Amino acid sequence: MLVNGIDLIKKANKEDFAIPAYNINNLEWTKFILEACNVDRSPVILGVSESAVKYFGGYKTVYNVVNSLIKDLKIKVPVVLHLDHGKSFESCKEAIDAGFTSVMIDASSKELEDNIEITKKVVDYAAPKQVNVEAELGALEGEYTSADEAEQFVTETGVNTLAPAIGNKHGIYDKDYEIDFELLGEICKKVKIPLVLHGASGLDENKIKTAIFCGVSKININTDLQLIWSKSVRMFLQTNPKVYDPRKIIKSGEDNFKSLIHYKNNILGSSNRAF
Ligand SMILES: [Zn+2]
Repeated sequence: MLVNGIDLIKKANKEDFAIPAYNINNLEWTKFILEACNVDRSPVILGVSESAVKYFGGYKTVYNVVNSLIKDLKIKVPVVLHLDHGKSFESCKEAIDAGFTSVMIDASSKELEDNIEITKKVVDYAAPKQVNVEAELGALEGEYTSADEAEQFVTETGVNTLAPAIGNKHGIYDKDYEIDFELLGEICKKVKIPLVLHGASGLDENKIKTAIFCGVSKININTDLQLIWSKSVRMFLQTNPKVYDPRKIIKSGEDNFKSLIHYKNNILGSSNRAF
């Protein structure tokens, strides 16, 4: 069932595990993720970027695809439909109006005051509808989040979850990187809300576990899925040059894709959490 993200992430925070946030790009990926998480009895967040929304056709289409798949596939685990890196109040509003149960407003490239103002506007719109709001502070490939600013930001915006910049990077998959756990712990202590880790693809398993221990309750995984799927499909096409049925081609990435989801759910401790 489609649920609001606030309670789910709070539960993860309390029980020391993290909800996986997997990015979806089309019907097939949505189906693979829902089925794999249902087998694991893992709650799941389906992240959709603005460009993926455009690729699907629009917010309402995404909502309908997800909502219908949950029903048709008889998915029993809690599912959150989340706008990933929403760039404006308008896109967050559109997502919420279409039925998304969680949104991220990413105004992190703006000055602190402007980031606070935009984020607060989204919170004011989302809160009465019980929609989870995530915001970002600091720059993922630049300045780390300051713990004091994070405290001010959370107090003034009333945001539900915060994605700090603590050394994490988007799109890094071929090598491990360093996370400032001391800073993460300090931020966690000051803000007292669940934290989100972006760019966890390629990050060492133990670092992911430490991050969860330090207060991270939602972990975003995107690049790893893209890599495993495209690699599998490429191999299939090379060994089966005569196949032209699109369903067979897209499906050829399914097994490895699902194996990766099972593996990640295990690391995050989200398996067997949904009953
Ligand atoms: Zn991100």
